[in-house]
Amino acid sequence: MANEKARLFVAFSLDVDPDSNIAVRGRIDSLSPPPEEGRARIDLAHRGLIETLRLLKRLNIPASLFFEARTAQMLAEREPDLNALTSLHEIGCHSHRHEDFLGTATGIPINRAQAKDIIRESLQILDGIFSRKITGFRAPYLRTNHDLLSLLGEMGFTYDSSVISDCIRPFYMKRASLWELALASLRADSGRRVISYLHPVFEGKRDVKEYVWAVGSTAHRIKGGLFIIAFHPWELFATPSGRLLSAEDSRKRVDIVANVLQGLKAAPELKFIRLDQYTALCQDILHDEQGRSRYPQIHEIRV
Ligand SMILES: [Zn+2]
Repeated sequence: MANEKARLFVAFSLDVDPDSNIAVRGRIDSLSPPPEEGRARIDLAHRGLIETLRLLKRLNIPASLFFEARTAQMLAEREPDLNALTSLHEIGCHSHRHEDFLGTATGIPINRAQAKDIIRESLQILDGIFSRKITGFRAPYLRTNHDLLSLLGEMGFTYDSSVISDCIRPFYMKRASLWELALASLRADSGRRVISYLHPVFEGKRDVKEYVWAVGSTAHRIKGGLFIIAFHPWELFATPSGRLLSAEDSRKRVDIVANVLQGLKAAPELKFIRLDQYTALCQDILHDEQGRSRYPQIHEIRV
């Protein structure tokens, strides 16, 4: 990290999954509301993705896009150039049909062998659409456990990004042979909690200035630490319950994303990075110039 000036890295990530999708008791796959119709829709995810990619291109910001394989398949039918459209960005895996791996909401816990089949199938689908190596995973609903994390390590993933933590340093989980690039939930210097996901800003519970300032204020906490921004493309057009936003409210949300990104880009101590590229720096972040560990090694992360 000798030539890296950034005091804090910032990663922009998207969970690309069906519109306002929810887990349904007794079903493995998630559905868009109303669940009685038994369908997963991607109209808004599609519009939101295109809008966000346009913004990222304009601002020249690289991102990490976690695709649910089913959604990627449906998007690729509408956008035959999906691979080229996303070429500046990392592709990560967000499961096949948004499976609730712990069975918390579906009532159907998924065992290790089933999880392996689901993730393998997801990777096959994503490999058929995108021409990039997939090294990262984000669990649907951010529901994970040690078994799932160790399975990811065994399957060759380099990192997971499903755990929420108040610490912005990368964790290496020796038992799982996997980096955890945790999503943030931290008490900013303002005293209020700021999380990676943008929905509190979309809903007016936090404002753009506070979010940007809170991210910047964490820069001194861990040298070379990482703050991950996240949202779902459909959130630009609908609420989690499936209510469509007015055109004006949608425009406001697009502006919020643009203003957050522009605000962070303007801060000299912050540097945007893709999560796959960040993992290449992780060893340096954890060790000082003499190769000594800066932080205690951990065997497992608390999940
Ligand atoms: Zn999701």
